[in-house]
Amino acid sequence: MRRNRNAKIVATLGPASTSRETIEALFRAGADVFRLNFSHGTHEDHQRRLEIIRSIERDAGRPIGVLLDLQGPKLRIGTFANGPIRLEKGAAFRLDLDAGTPGDTDRVALPHPEIFAALRPQTNLLLDDGRVQLRVERCGPDFAETSVVVGGPLSERKGVNVPDVVLPLSAMTDKDRRDLEFGLTLGIDWLALSFVQRVEDIREVRKIVGERVGIVAKLEKPAAICSLDAIVDEADAVMIARGDLGVEMPAEQVPAIQKRIVRACRKAGKPVFVATQMLESMVAAPVPTRAEASDVATAVYDGADAVMLSAESASGKYPVEAVRMMDLIISQTEHDPYYREVIAASHATPRATPSDAIGYAMRHVTGLLDAVATVAYTSSGYSALCMARERPCAPIVGMTPQTGTARRLALVWGVHSVVCKELIDAAEVSELACETVRAEGFGGAGQTVVWHAVRHARNY
Ligand code: PGA
Ligand code: MN
Repeated sequence: MRRNRNAKIVATLGPASTSRETIEALFRAGADVFRLNFSHGTHEDHQRRLEIIRSIERDAGRPIGVLLDLQGPKLRIGTFANGPIRLEKGAAFRLDLDAGTPGDTDRVALPHPEIFAALRPQTNLLLDDGRVQLRVERCGPDFAETSVVVGGPLSERKGVNVPDVVLPLSAMTDKDRRDLEFGLTLGIDWLALSFVQRVEDIREVRKIVGERVGIVAKLEKPAAICSLDAIVDEADAVMIARGDLGVEMPAEQVPAIQKRIVRACRKAGKPVFVATQMLESMVAAPVPTRAEASDVATAVYDGADAVMLSAESASGKYPVEAVRMMDLIISQTEHDPYYREVIAASHATPRATPSDAIGYAMRHVTGLLDAVATVAYTSSGYSALCMARERPCAPIVGMTPQTGTARRLALVWGVHSVVCKELIDAAEVSELACETVRAEGFGGAGQTVVWHAVRHARNY
C-alpha cells in the first residue's frame, strides 16, 4: 500500500477516534502519523490507542508514526460542574486555585500558582485561543477577580494565554516528565515539546531521551521565533503551532511567520508541519470552507512536510472525512503543474556537506534518468532526509533495518519507508532496492531505480 502524494498527514486521536474501527479508517483515509495529545486523556486511553495503532501497523505491513505531544507549561482552567458555561460581556468571573471544586458561571479553577503571582490589575487573560477575554480587576496569590471583556461559551480545560506577562516557566512540567517516562515505555517515535522558548529547552529533553525518539519543537511563543534558526538546528522536526502562536502574537503576523518557519526548516533539512485549524469547520460539518481548503493547499505549495488535524480528528463529528479531505486537497494540489514550478523555484541551496551534495546529485540523477523512485538505504533516516530536502520529482523509498527510523520517516515529505533486514554490501542493497520498488508498487521491469547507501554518524 502506498500513498499518491508527498506531503503527509498527522491526525490527532481523541474521544472521536478511540475505536479500532475509526483509527483504522483514519489510517486508510490517509493518516501517516498519529498524534497522542497528552493535554487530554489518561495514560490508559493513550496506551489503548497506541496498541491499536501497532496492531493496524502489523496488519497493514506499513510503518506508522506516533507522536506524543506533551502539554508543556500550558495554562488551563479546570472543569465545570454542569458542562460548558456561557460568559456574558461585562459579567464578573473569578479564577482561583481551588482545583477540587468544579466551576460554574461565577468561577472556575486556574490551578497555576505562578500565574497568580505574575498577574496585575488590568492584565488581559485570553481563554480558548482568545475566543473569550477577561480583564483582571483585583487579584491575590490564589485568586483573580476579572470582568468579561469578550464573552462566549467556555468549556472545561480550555487554554489560557497571558500575552502581556512573561511567565517564569520551564518547558517541562512535572506532569510532562511523568508523561514522557510513560511514553518511552510505550515506544513512541516523535516527542513534541510545547511552548519552547529557548534552545536549552530542547537540549534538556535531549538529555533524557537521547536518540530514542525524534524531538519536535512546537513553535508557539514569540521568544522561539526570535531564536528560530538555533531552535530549528537543535530540534529534529518543527510544528508550526498556529493555535497558541496566533494568540501570543497578532493573527495577521502568523502567515508570514509560518512561511518563514517553513523556509528555515527546508533550508536546514528538518521536517516541518503546519498545525491547527486547518479544516476547523469540519469539527461540525462534513465539508470544509473554501478558505480552509486553500490553507491546506498553501502549506503544500510551500513544501511543508506535513499538515495536521487536531479537533477535526480528535473530537469532531467527521474525523475520517477530515483526513480524506486533506488527502484529496494534497493530491490535487500536488498534481497542479504550477506546484512543481513552485517547488522547483523554492529549492534550498545545498550546504557544502557530503550529505547535501549527495541529495542534490541524486535529485538530478533521478530527473535525468526519469527514475520511478529513489531508494535510500538508511539506518538513522538521515540519508532519506537529505533526499527529501531536495523535494525530488520521484518518490523516495527509505529502506531501513530500524523500525523506529521507518516510523519516524512517516512524517517526512515524499518518503515511503520500508523496514528491511540489515544489508551488508552494495549488491544486496541494489537488489533489494529494485525488489522493494516493485513490491511497493512504484515501478516494474524495465524501469530505472536510483539508490544510495551512506554511513552517517549522527541520528536525526
Ligand atoms: P496544542 O498545540 O494543540 O497542543 O495547543 C498546537 C497549537 O497551539 O497550535
Ligand atoms: Mn499549543
